[in-house]
Amino acid sequence: MSERYLFIFDRSPDGCVLVPDGKPLPRDARPEFEHLLEISGPVSRLDENCDMWGLAAKDSLTPCGYKFVSRQDLAGRFGMDLFVRSGAAFQVMSLYANNKFCGRCGEPMRDQERDLARECPKCGRLVFSSLYPAVIVAVEKDGALLMGHNASFPDGRYSVLAGFVEPGETLEQTVVREIYEESKIKVKNIRYFCSQPWPFPASMMLAFNADWESGDPTADGDEITDVRWFSPRDIPPEISLPPVMSVSRMLIEDWKRRRARGV
Ligand SMILES: [Zn+2]
Repeated sequence: MSERYLFIFDRSPDGCVLVPDGKPLPRDARPEFEHLLEISGPVSRLDENCDMWGLAAKDSLTPCGYKFVSRQDLAGRFGMDLFVRSGAAFQVMSLYANNKFCGRCGEPMRDQERDLARECPKCGRLVFSSLYPAVIVAVEKDGALLMGHNASFPDGRYSVLAGFVEPGETLEQTVVREIYEESKIKVKNIRYFCSQPWPFPASMMLAFNADWESGDPTADGDEITDVRWFSPRDIPPEISLPPVMSVSRMLIEDWKRRRARGV
């Protein structure tokens, strides 16, 4: 097995990655950083081109010439491939770091032999990597796109609406509920678009298109502070869109392309 990259995460909730200042990310750098790590391991026990992960120890210092950067910044500096691979490494790291002991009986947990999972040798509890499914939806009415400003966004940022799936819901039910909660718009004709792992810390984004059925855009005033229809040629210059690697931006760009073709 040849290890490829070693992704060392800090202890922030979204897992910033250690990168060298002004140089490419090193490969097979494990021995150099071993002393920094609290725990470490492979991303997969099956993959020939396996990446490694490590969690920086609580009081470890950042090595000279290196710094921790967000994984979105990693995409900007080193490309989408490392963004995706560091996300997978972060999720596997989280499986280990968050499941040292059984949450039901307190026994130390161990690796499960068959799957990428942790198991409790005492009560048999099995824990897989966390994945939180969320829908994200491009709602259209007469060619206009519904976008909102989330209270957590930077100033001027607008995006298509999104929300987490609740227990017992189908994805289609989540689409209807979330869009209504955030905009008071009812939607119909829901179509699957694509999916994207978004490990900040563990979301799985499931993107859909949908058509307006009834209602006027009305922000909930809490999570969403403004929501409105946009036409492709009428996005004001002060409005910023989500990062290009995000599925929300893919939905918006798909809408723009279709409008340009008059579809
Ligand atoms: Zn247990």
